[in-house]
Amino acid sequence: MTPAPPNPPAPSEPPAPSEPPAPSEPLAPSEPPAATVVDDLVALSRTLGEPGRQLAILAEGNTSVRLDGDGPSGRMLVKASGAWLARLEPHDLVELRLAPLIALLDDERAGDQQVTRTFAAATITREAPAPRPSVEALLHAVCLAETPARVVAHTHPVAANGLLCSASAGLLGGGALFPDQIVVLGRHVVVVPYVDPGLPLARHVRGLLRDFATRHGTTPRVLFLRNHGIFALGASRDEVLQITEMAVKVATVLQVAVAAGGPVFLTDTQADRIDSRPDEHHRRRALLEQVPR
Ligand SMILES: [Zn+2]
Repeated sequence: MTPAPPNPPAPSEPPAPSEPPAPSEPLAPSEPPAATVVDDLVALSRTLGEPGRQLAILAEGNTSVRLDGDGPSGRMLVKASGAWLARLEPHDLVELRLAPLIALLDDERAGDQQVTRTFAAATITREAPAPRPSVEALLHAVCLAETPARVVAHTHPVAANGLLCSASAGLLGGGALFPDQIVVLGRHVVVVPYVDPGLPLARHVRGLLRDFATRHGTTPRVLFLRNHGIFALGASRDEVLQITEMAVKVATVLQVAVAAGGPVFLTDTQADRIDSRPDEHHRRRALLEQVPR
């Protein structure tokens, strides 16, 4: 049988859909971030930077929020390099597209020069020139792209770093110490070894997040980074603050437990029971609803 010759396209036919734009190409202008989203991130940052909390001094730490999309699509707002959490202003936030940052992680030849160039290409500039994002913005991009988190907060808490800079840091991954830890932080946490900041650390954390998802069927709410600090991953500003506070409490309790003869972790059965009890889920929701404003 002779195949019919292909029909020439009719003049009225719409053009074939073009390829999606490469990550490094500029996209169509998007809506600026809503004022409420900016205000929430500024408020969270200033709270984390309060001196009494001992979570960050000077320009330590950074915060981010996903603006739209899921996975590696969409944009994030992230603290600029050199800005102080305690005194953060809206103009200290940088708007970045996630896709170019995530694509950089896949490029094995990429080094520090490409990071700088990619940050510039991923930055969305509106009225005024945008400030430079922190190198830790890569880690924020990974957390937002690999998990359902909408808000991410990174701090260097004195209490947590006391443990993270010690020979006992690995105990943070040893299990749950008390029920509220599981209610707020989840059944499992991630302890990240010390890795060179920037691309190597972002790539390493992405691998750990994927391993975690394979092993536990979910994503973590907290990452403990040895000799560095913590990352809290949550659905909202309130949740991220609670996760940060609980992570610091766990690290503090663990230090006391180590000094008091050694920690006694809940058994797997006890911890699983807390994780699956409906009244514990209720408690978690109730915690979020009771946040003072
Ligand atoms: Zn840091």
